[in-house]
Amino acid sequence: MNGVKTHYSLLIAGKRAESSSAGRTILDFFLQLLLISAVNFSFFYVEDQPVNIKALNGFKDILPGEVELWQRLEAVARDIFARFNFSEIRLPILEKTDLFARAIGEATDIVEKEMYTFVDKQVTMRPEATASLLRAYIEHGLHVQKPVQRLFTIGPMFRHERPQKGRLRQFHQMDVEVLGSISPRVDAEMMAMGAMLLNELGLSVSLELNSLGCPVCRPGFRASLLAFLDDRHEALCDDCKRRSATNPLRVLDCKKPRCREQVLEAPSLQDHLCADCADHFSGVQAGLDQLGVHYTLNKFMVRGLDYYTRTTFEFITGDLGAQAAVGAGGRYDGLVEQLGGPSVPGIGFALGMERLVLLLQQKEAEAPVSGTDFYVAGIGEQSSRHAFGLTHAMRASGMRVAMDLEGRSLKSQMKQAGKLGAAHVLILGENELAAGKAVLRNMVTQEQQEIVLQDEATTVQTLILQLKSS
Ligand code: ATP
Ligand code: MG
Repeated sequence: MNGVKTHYSLLIAGKRAESSSAGRTILDFFLQLLLISAVNFSFFYVEDQPVNIKALNGFKDILPGEVELWQRLEAVARDIFARFNFSEIRLPILEKTDLFARAIGEATDIVEKEMYTFVDKQVTMRPEATASLLRAYIEHGLHVQKPVQRLFTIGPMFRHERPQKGRLRQFHQMDVEVLGSISPRVDAEMMAMGAMLLNELGLSVSLELNSLGCPVCRPGFRASLLAFLDDRHEALCDDCKRRSATNPLRVLDCKKPRCREQVLEAPSLQDHLCADCADHFSGVQAGLDQLGVHYTLNKFMVRGLDYYTRTTFEFITGDLGAQAAVGAGGRYDGLVEQLGGPSVPGIGFALGMERLVLLLQQKEAEAPVSGTDFYVAGIGEQSSRHAFGLTHAMRASGMRVAMDLEGRSLKSQMKQAGKLGAAHVLILGENELAAGKAVLRNMVTQEQQEIVLQDEATTVQTLILQLKSS
């Protein structure tokens, strides 16, 4: 087998002391074998003891009670993305490491220290979506299908950062990209769409805007920034000392108070824009003004990814401490070409879903409970059996139905129905059932009525009418 290593796995489950020592003897044997052979073995030694395995630090389960907020967030976003004529694209989690190194930039925090990389395989779990989306755009020639592509994707991203409130190692983004348009109106429209989404979620968030210029005007700015930083080199943090050499613009957005103080008087990119970039930037602002989107200019906003040109923006909240950005993005006009694609401009932004959910939670102390149309309560074996079949038929016809399968008392079933927020409870008592009837209680008005039980299909129709009229 040319160049392919044979891979054996050995699983030894040690049930008791004797068998685990037997297991170890086998293990020793294989270890010896490993020493004398060129074959690659992996050993998994599983102790048969109860263990308490927890999720990894920075990786979080999203449980019922919270998940409803995620669903709402996603539903509102999908609706708005559709209104703005965006199509969904679903992308793989794993990509070649080289893709991110090239797109995001070698001298960025993400590539330098935050990526989850399988070094031996040279693949990385995506830390953001733009690079993968452009890879797909180029790979499938999407520019040929439509001169302007409007795409969005929703899913998990992975960055090895220090976990804190609103900062995880697996987090989720809603990412939106427009490829193929240079129009400053697209920039304004993207920000207006983000603002509309946040507004419809009832969140008050501010928008900050900057322009990073282009390869024509940025070198001039970089030179004057370098001269400015040279005079203050000693006062900068160690990271910024290093960054001044590799990526001086990043010094502008260092979060350390001492560095912030040093750069207060730094030159502004907005004053160094070439005529084309200045025109574009005023077009963006005119578009935002026309659509009534409020924004403030922030000369310190440079973004942590190298690919940005011209417009950059962030949606900022004051309600999440240090994790102030709920969304961010900008234009990246040279990136598609740099990744081996056609010369196509692009702009995009990503919203951080954890941070939006935190804001939604702060706004509504309690997440809405998931909807249940009916709770079917059976009392005794006969009526539980009937309830079991009826519940299934109701579900098949589209209703959201819960029932008890544990033979609990009517009292505890009613409690359960209340907890689930069921709109109606259908009570099938033994006597009523014998008489071909059931009691239907409206949980909001507390009114009760008798309904006649006919064949399953007719009963289901009766219940659908009840639901519609309530
Ligand atoms: P930050 O400055 O907070 O580190 P960033 O500039 O690294 O953010 P982007 O790469 O622009 O973030 O990602 C867009 C959005 O994704 C951010 O505004 C934020 O809401 C969210 N985000 C980024 N990193 C994380 C993370 N580790 N955990 C949760 N959300 C995140
Ligand atoms: Mg970051």
